Amino acid sequence: MDWKNLERELIALRRDFHEYPESAWTEFRTSAVIASRLSGLGYELSMGLDNIDVPSVMGRPDEAEIDRQIERSKAQLPRGGAESAGFIDKARRYPGVVGILKTGREGPVISLRFDIDCVDVDETTAPEHRPNKEGFASVNACLDHSCGHDAHAAIGLGLAEVLASRKSELRGSIRLIFQPGEEGCRGAYAMTQKGVVDGSDYFLSMHIGIGVPSGSFGLNSYGHLCTTKFDVEFTGRPAHAAAAPQEGKNALLSAATAAISLQAIAPHSDGSMRVNVGTLFAGTGRNVIAGRAVMKAETRGETQEIADYVYKRACEVVNGAAAIYATEAKITMMGFGTNADGDAALAATAGEAVRELGVFRKILDNVPAGGSEDATWMMRRVQEGGGQALYMVLGSDIAAPHHNGAFDIDESVMINGVRALYAIIDKLLKSEGK
Ligand SMILES: [Zn+2]
Ligand SMILES: [Zn+2]
Repeated sequence: MDWKNLERELIALRRDFHEYPESAWTEFRTSAVIASRLSGLGYELSMGLDNIDVPSVMGRPDEAEIDRQIERSKAQLPRGGAESAGFIDKARRYPGVVGILKTGREGPVISLRFDIDCVDVDETTAPEHRPNKEGFASVNACLDHSCGHDAHAAIGLGLAEVLASRKSELRGSIRLIFQPGEEGCRGAYAMTQKGVVDGSDYFLSMHIGIGVPSGSFGLNSYGHLCTTKFDVEFTGRPAHAAAAPQEGKNALLSAATAAISLQAIAPHSDGSMRVNVGTLFAGTGRNVIAGRAVMKAETRGETQEIADYVYKRACEVVNGAAAIYATEAKITMMGFGTNADGDAALAATAGEAVRELGVFRKILDNVPAGGSEDATWMMRRVQEGGGQALYMVLGSDIAAPHHNGAFDIDESVMINGVRALYAIIDKLLKSEGK
């Protein structure tokens, strides 16, 4: 393998994904680029709707917005991307790709998951920010790959290339799952319910950064928080603010009361929890009693029990805030993530492989996750089916925190991410054969 050449390819791919970031359920261009490459490498493809259990989909934009996003993604396809345009139509209005490499030889099923969506945040315009300096900043307003999923997609494609070039040395089959909508925990559940990881003996996923510096590798990321993402729509009644305020029902005050009171949910003695109201829009005009307010919020807990407790209390608070001002609250779940523990045996095998590889200065056994992650649905499903699962961390120095518009990764670590994943797959196949 020409690793130097692959490294250049990874950087070019990552920069291409970075320039055209796509939010949850609209990753049509990203998926088409991935599919086009995988098919060129000889992977069996399963695209879009084929990988999605529609009743399990949460937090997807409405059909008119999907239409707009499909048009936008087609216009942004790489030059000479006619073939890729076919991939967008094949996906039937849902993003995401699963590429399967069948070796034709007996062996385990190994599934790997790469998330491909961006964050809903504006990228900084600061001239020292490398994407600005080197001309690959986001062209899509209020969208930015500030969680490093551009690197995840590139690493997945890099691994696809290595695996394809060494197919004759492999056994069993390998599934590369490119998942839409990780942000807000929206995509993994619908894919899992469709069975994309069913029958897997091993499941691997990996995140770049998250507090681990360049040159380090985390074998087992633990403690993902169980989470529920939800929208609240308060409906009241607009009225003249001076002439007839008594005839109005104030949705703005309901929402504001809810936003503040949600922060007062009592903590739980069994472990940590979080509540956040991320957006709140209300009202139409200065002299009008606000008839409508919309809020995006989330709750999290260290265990499923704590997460259930805090979400249940949040619903009670929202309904209470509606009752105070005689408005109505409609709560819609927009995403959810659970927790899952990595398998110690798989972590040990991965540790052996990564140590032998010798490209990391420091290998950490356990890394606290800090946030939430919906790959946990896939991990659980694989474990329930008798397989083993692991969530790892590829260390990278970062220019700013995740989900901040000045976030940037250390591109030089990506190649070692590919090498680590390949080494682990190789080790698994060899140790199975013993
Ligand atoms: Zn993120
Ligand atoms: Zn992320």
